[in-house]
Amino acid sequence: MKKSASEPDALPCAPEVAATLREEVLASHAYAVPPSTGLIKLDAMENPFALPAVLQDALGQRLARLALNRYPEPGHQQRLREALLKHEGSAAGLDVMLGNGSDELIALLSQAVRGPEGSPGTVIAPEPGFVMYGVSARLNRQNYVGVPLRADDFDLDAQAMVAAIRQHKPALVYLAYPNNPTANLYSEEAVAAVVDAVLANGHGFVVFDEAYQPFASRSQRARLGTSPQILVMRTLSKFGLAGVRLGYLLGQTEVIAQIDKVRPPYNISVLNLECALFALEHSAEFARQAQIIRDQRQQLVGLLGALPRVRCWPSQANMILLRVGETAEAAAAVHASLREQGVLVKNISGAHPLLQGCLRLTVGSPKENLTLVRCLHQALDATRQ
Ligand SMILES: *Cc1c(COP(=O)(O)O)cnc(C)c1O
Repeated sequence: MKKSASEPDALPCAPEVAATLREEVLASHAYAVPPSTGLIKLDAMENPFALPAVLQDALGQRLARLALNRYPEPGHQQRLREALLKHEGSAAGLDVMLGNGSDELIALLSQAVRGPEGSPGTVIAPEPGFVMYGVSARLNRQNYVGVPLRADDFDLDAQAMVAAIRQHKPALVYLAYPNNPTANLYSEEAVAAVVDAVLANGHGFVVFDEAYQPFASRSQRARLGTSPQILVMRTLSKFGLAGVRLGYLLGQTEVIAQIDKVRPPYNISVLNLECALFALEHSAEFARQAQIIRDQRQQLVGLLGALPRVRCWPSQANMILLRVGETAEAAAAVHASLREQGVLVKNISGAHPLLQGCLRLTVGSPKENLTLVRCLHQALDATRQ
């Protein structure tokens, strides 16, 4: 489990180096990715399906023909931007900015904005939520404010969000829609209250992070036309290309043109660009995979919810949040037992008080999901106090 940012890091460091690095860097911890070789990997919301062999061959030939000796030419990015806009339904007045994953877009957004008085500004996000919003804010010396979600149903606490927005006049408000790790969509009234509060400030962007959009029943995309202060961020990671690193930010054309100035000119390699173009040409295959995952999710929620002492929340994403015990120790024991049986999920019990005793798992292939249920049954038996 990650330690809090305020604890000193144990990494050794020469005094000259320590005197040179920023406090935020010295105090932070590298993002830990656990080893997964030989395990059924259900910890990072990856798509379990590979490309069909014919498509693999076709993609290989496309990639082999790229000019790897050249910097990416602007027309290549332009082609992908147009393909993404088409994929998104091509509404007039909108444009898209490309990031090396959404993670890069989150970092670039922090660099692009400021507070009302010219300070680096405040970033607000509900919690528990995606860690990168806070990481990026802190590294950019922004004030990060996490507002707790409502206990039990994990909806936005609209009153608390609106109060924080009035008080801090944030430069960025992130709403992951669906949220990670709680996998839910916020209620429409609460979202509207948050948007109205930001617009009333006359300052700041509301960023809807729709990374899990392929699995969700609703989107906030239609809000893009209503205000230049609305942005929607999406990614090909959960869609099925986590290894490719391609995120994109949708907004009104003039807004995107401004924020795009912060982007390093060659941030997307020709390999990423071509893979993404290829995937969009074959989006029917990815849509087919997403449908299987949504069907599997419903089955899995039913099976997991029927296990003794397990609470399983409904999901609008390709992940499921479940409580396997009352304490962090109980969650750690079940997590360890699953790992011993060859199944890797994420123990998020320590990430936030509302997640006490909780694990988060990815919806895998039908076979992986059956193994997961069997192993979880075994883990619950073995760790029963
Ligand atoms: C997985 C995830 C992302 C994706 O980040 P990439 O850098 O595009 O892989 C973004 N936001 C949330 C909430 C996520 O869970």
